[in-house]
Amino acid sequence: MSNPQTDHQAAVLSSTPVNAMTIDVEDYYQVAAFEKMVAPTDWGNFESRVVANTRRFLELLASRNIKATFFVLGYEAEQHPELVREIVNAGHEIGSHGYAHRLAYTQSEAEFRDDVARSRKLLQDLSGQDVLSYRAPSFSIGRRTPWGHRVLVEEGYRCDSSVFPIRHDLYGDPDAPVGIYTIETESGPILEFPPTVVRLFGHNVPTGGGGYFRIFPWWFTRRMLTQVNKTRPFVFYIHPWEIDPKQPRFDKAPLKSRFRHYTNLHKTETRFLQLLETFRFAPLREILAQLLCKI
Ligand SMILES: [Zn+2]
Repeated sequence: MSNPQTDHQAAVLSSTPVNAMTIDVEDYYQVAAFEKMVAPTDWGNFESRVVANTRRFLELLASRNIKATFFVLGYEAEQHPELVREIVNAGHEIGSHGYAHRLAYTQSEAEFRDDVARSRKLLQDLSGQDVLSYRAPSFSIGRRTPWGHRVLVEEGYRCDSSVFPIRHDLYGDPDAPVGIYTIETESGPILEFPPTVVRLFGHNVPTGGGGYFRIFPWWFTRRMLTQVNKTRPFVFYIHPWEIDPKQPRFDKAPLKSRFRHYTNLHKTETRFLQLLETFRFAPLREILAQLLCKI
């Protein structure tokens, strides 16, 4: 006998878009917020917590039978090749977060090319997957890197998730489209799936992950993402260190950086499970494959 309430929930679920779940695999000392305090040459001096935290995400996703895209930093893949294999064996997609977590707009075109090519080759060799998706460190490709998407196409990428349609001191382009779109470059097309925003009081408000997910209350995020899902899928992003309230702290970092990095770390895991139970998710490649079939 069918249960009308369950049937109704199933019907609602099947009519809502499937969203992209993405995890940027990096450690707490590699983030742009602490870039001025931690040189990449010092990374080896810090306690590594990325493996344990990523494994926790693998458990959380498995508990709700959800597959995701893991944008792995090349440096971390090199340090922990077994972690890449664990992600693949659990059925997830591997994407690239570049090699050295340098902001795209602080690099020359040639340096950027070397970084994205090196990480793609490394990740493909380790995962056995064709790595097609890229996310720039701190969403740093856009207006300041007019060559960015062309270089990605030339180096074998077919999808990017980096152009944040907001105004922010480190990244973003408030005039960029908010839904999935194609960028035509001289070397071919690339699909852009921008980090999620909602239009509120005349501004694009970011609601799809990271610090925004930790700082805004869960009811607000749920309401905003429900709003987005009325017309389109969203992409959600999070980092392994965001579920780790016991990570070593940079108490001398500027207040703004500490606020962005440390707020509500202890609440993230519970909230993340609520998110998994409220919305439908799949890896980026599946959303894009569905979309391309419909076009
Ligand atoms: Zn990052």
